[in-house]
Amino acid sequence: MMDKPRIAVHKFASCDGCQLAFLNMGPELLELANHVEIVHFVEAGMVAPDAEVDIAFVEGSVSTEEDIERIHAIRKLSKQVITIGACAGSGGLQALRNLADGEQWLNELYPQPQYIQSLNNTHPVKDYIKVDFEVWGCPVSTQQIKQVVTSLLLGASPLQSKDKICLECKRQQRVCTLVTIPTTGTPKELENRQKACLGPITAAGCGALCPSVGRACYGCYGLADNAEPAALARRFEGLGLVSKAIAQKLLLFHSHEDALRRAAENMSETQEAFNGQ
Ligand code: SF4
Ligand code: SF4
Ligand code: SF4
Repeated sequence: MMDKPRIAVHKFASCDGCQLAFLNMGPELLELANHVEIVHFVEAGMVAPDAEVDIAFVEGSVSTEEDIERIHAIRKLSKQVITIGACAGSGGLQALRNLADGEQWLNELYPQPQYIQSLNNTHPVKDYIKVDFEVWGCPVSTQQIKQVVTSLLLGASPLQSKDKICLECKRQQRVCTLVTIPTTGTPKELENRQKACLGPITAAGCGALCPSVGRACYGCYGLADNAEPAALARRFEGLGLVSKAIAQKLLLFHSHEDALRRAAENMSETQEAFNGQ
């Protein structure tokens, strides 16, 4: 009988929410254990951070010198490294600190900042090592994890859609939260119209979860192929959002993405020009 593939789940700077996608499998996690050997997963009670594995799942962003050493060690120990979640993929929420003066934040937040040892910036994992596959979301879902593990067990490459959320949304015949539709619909649907939805630039895969409950997408699955953040920003201006609010929306999860930063910077220039009038 062939040896079972060995799996590790590593945590870096994160909220642990993506690791829950494993634990939330419930009884299916026991079924998974019939097919793989989970050798390191602290949240589930297995501790072997230095074990060689076939697949290392990594949650969280790289934020300290120790993190840099650890992520390089994980790469050496692992045949495949797969990031899970926005933190590992693009820095996530905590990468917002990269837009500010990190030292000023430390001084304002901590009474004794001299004991905080962190890098000046927070980084996605791919800034330091080769990543074999990225699973996006904040958090990722149990379904995504199952699809990735199943593909790998079958010897196939996992798939990540780079279509836009709008496609999933329209296939479900949802009422668009972005466009203006005057009077019809339930009170809830009416209330949720003209919301600044990031669906037109965000990668599909969640089943348009937020628009399906009348909420705007906030972009947690990362950028879709051929995304045009600057064009969407202009559409948001048409909804009456000020430049600062648009920039904050674009940068909330993926401030590391050049295309989003460029679009947000353009908005700031627009704001400055507006203020100068
Ligand atoms: S991507 Fe979101 S849910 Fe996952 S660890 Fe980061 S903050 Fe938590
Ligand atoms: S994802 Fe957002 S913008 Fe796209 S169709 Fe749905 S509600 Fe409209
Ligand atoms: S609709 Fe947008 S914010 Fe909501 S889960 Fe999907 S990608 Fe994330």
